[in-house]
Amino acid sequence: MANGIDGYSRSLGARPQTNIVTAQRKEIGNRLLAALPPADLGLLTPHFQKVSFEPDAVLVRSGDELDPVYFPHSGAIAFMLDMPDGQTVATTLMGREGALASFSVLGPSPSSVTAIARVAGTASVISAAKFRAAHAQSAAIRNVVQVHARAVLLQLQHVAACNALHRVDGRMARWLLQLHDRVPEDLLPVTQEALAQLVGVRRTTVTLTMSKLREAGAIPSERRGFVEIHRGRLERIACDCYALMQRKIDRMYCQELAAPHPADRPFRERAMVASD
Ligand SMILES: [Zn+2]
Repeated sequence: MANGIDGYSRSLGARPQTNIVTAQRKEIGNRLLAALPPADLGLLTPHFQKVSFEPDAVLVRSGDELDPVYFPHSGAIAFMLDMPDGQTVATTLMGREGALASFSVLGPSPSSVTAIARVAGTASVISAAKFRAAHAQSAAIRNVVQVHARAVLLQLQHVAACNALHRVDGRMARWLLQLHDRVPEDLLPVTQEALAQLVGVRRTTVTLTMSKLREAGAIPSERRGFVEIHRGRLERIACDCYALMQRKIDRMYCQELAAPHPADRPFRERAMVASD
């Protein structure tokens, strides 16, 4: 079993997760874990296992019980709502600021969405039962879960408004920026198919929109499975939702997460700075 956040490994067990393998990494990249005082973090670390996930790995399927709980240290996970007619659309995106299935503390319940890795990453994983036990013991853990829940709710509200009110190019720019916040470079590992699912439009619409973004200089290049972005130009095309949402969430995290990790920064600070 694990001896802390750094040194554990095992396969994830029952749920089919063929793209997930064990991994080793030293730092605590997850913002919620980094905000916990050592004693509270110590309630979790003996039970953690570290995993890595590849793009398209399904971490939770719609209808599955929310178990285990993932604390991503890197990467990006999209929450997809599957419609009866086979269409699917993203509701939220999560990276190291979140905890997948942390709402299992509310009691056993099936997931209403499918969580798919969009960008490869690593996560610390704990069983829902162990996490609930630690949550019951620690006010600090309850606080990070509450802050995270409010951030997810805020993102859901903005995405709902954005889908109803804003144009496809602005929405696609917003998703690309959200992905960019969770990768270390300007080359995003995302296919047009994945973009179609994120934005909730047909592939042909993605092709047309990408063409517009290329003409505007916001997408300098695109090759199979990778999109290079020019962040400053993309920020000018994105609807207001992106900056508004990130600013509110950053403020919430900075003000309400106790004992922030000194090396931690709210998302990516350059998200708020045009860099043309
Ligand atoms: Zn919008």
